[in-house]
Amino acid sequence: MESFQTLKKSLKGKLIFGEPLSRHTTFCIGGPAKIWAEPSSEDDLRKLITFAKRLGLKFVVLGAGSNILASDKGFEGLILMMSSPQFSNLEIKKNQLKAGAGAKLARCVYSACKHSLSGMEGLFGIPGTVGGAIIMNSGYKTSIGKIVKRLRVMDRNGKILTLKSKDLKFVYRKSNVCRYIILEAEFALKLGNEKDLRKECVRLRQLRKDTQPWDKPSAGCVFRNPKGRCESASSLIEKCGLKGRVFGGAKISNVHSNFIINNKSASSKDVASLMKLVKNSVMKKFNIALKSEIIKIGS
Ligand SMILES: Cc1cc2nc3c(=O)[nH]c(=O)nc-3n(C[C@H](O)[C@H](O)[C@H](O)COP(=O)(O)OP(=O)(O)OC[C@H]3O[C@@H](n4cnc5c(N)ncnc54)[C@H](O)[C@@H]3O)c2cc1C
Repeated sequence: MESFQTLKKSLKGKLIFGEPLSRHTTFCIGGPAKIWAEPSSEDDLRKLITFAKRLGLKFVVLGAGSNILASDKGFEGLILMMSSPQFSNLEIKKNQLKAGAGAKLARCVYSACKHSLSGMEGLFGIPGTVGGAIIMNSGYKTSIGKIVKRLRVMDRNGKILTLKSKDLKFVYRKSNVCRYIILEAEFALKLGNEKDLRKECVRLRQLRKDTQPWDKPSAGCVFRNPKGRCESASSLIEKCGLKGRVFGGAKISNVHSNFIINNKSASSKDVASLMKLVKNSVMKKFNIALKSEIIKIGS
């Protein structure tokens, strides 16, 4: 593929064929990506999306892959991994933390606490990146959208834009920025006490450890909690008697019914079969259509 070689030569970042997605998802599931790229600058990123557009290839941006179910057949397009230092920088000025999209949430929370800045504690222990967490409006007992002040993004034509609070909308596990590639985020934090902040992080992490399975690969909660209902997806699944249900190598966790774990070399088909079983059972018993929280890549 001549154009591929030309592109490769023009990039500073990595570009490879057939990288297994199972290496980059917390589920440890997924076949090969046709093209895998780790852009090392905004210029690289622009070249890559222009290339994909020209060839009619779909592209997907990947953070830490912690909310992803990738197909066993892989992805017939371009995967963009924002892991280079250019996209993982952290900077703190007064009560603001600026972070690259690829920066890990744990690192952001750690730095905020170290500077006695409060507002990020609920993100401690979520195994994602800034970019992925903003797209998903992630959080625990809170959500990241509440502290986002400004975003630097690239649109699908390679144009860089700055989005301010008034342009942003965050609702439960959703944001209005998924049509963009997140490059960098600025968070508005409040002054706190370092010792208290660390204590709160440890408390929340323990709470999660007590209520979520951490010993097996997963992608966190599989389904969104149903809108306008006080009952959680987890409780509905449990009431259907599905806790502990196994399909192939996948299992509905005994610790948290809204987690499917990769118990033993699960395939994405195994996970999808359990998801189908859950959806059908909850629909039959409660007439509720559960919606997926995890994002599927590939077919
Ligand atoms: C054990 C475990 C516990 C979890 N607990 C929680 C929890 O308590 N609360 C919670 O909210 N979530 C939780 N999650 C889910 C997951 O960690 C979060 O949704 C996380 O924020 C996703 O970030 P990521 O970087 O891994 O994104 P990914 O999973 O890689 O991607 C998620 C989505 O964001 C897009 N994306 C990623 N980066 C960018 C970017 N730079 N620009 C544009 N789009 C991008 C992807 O295309 C995809 O659509 C948990 C997951 C696990 C495995």
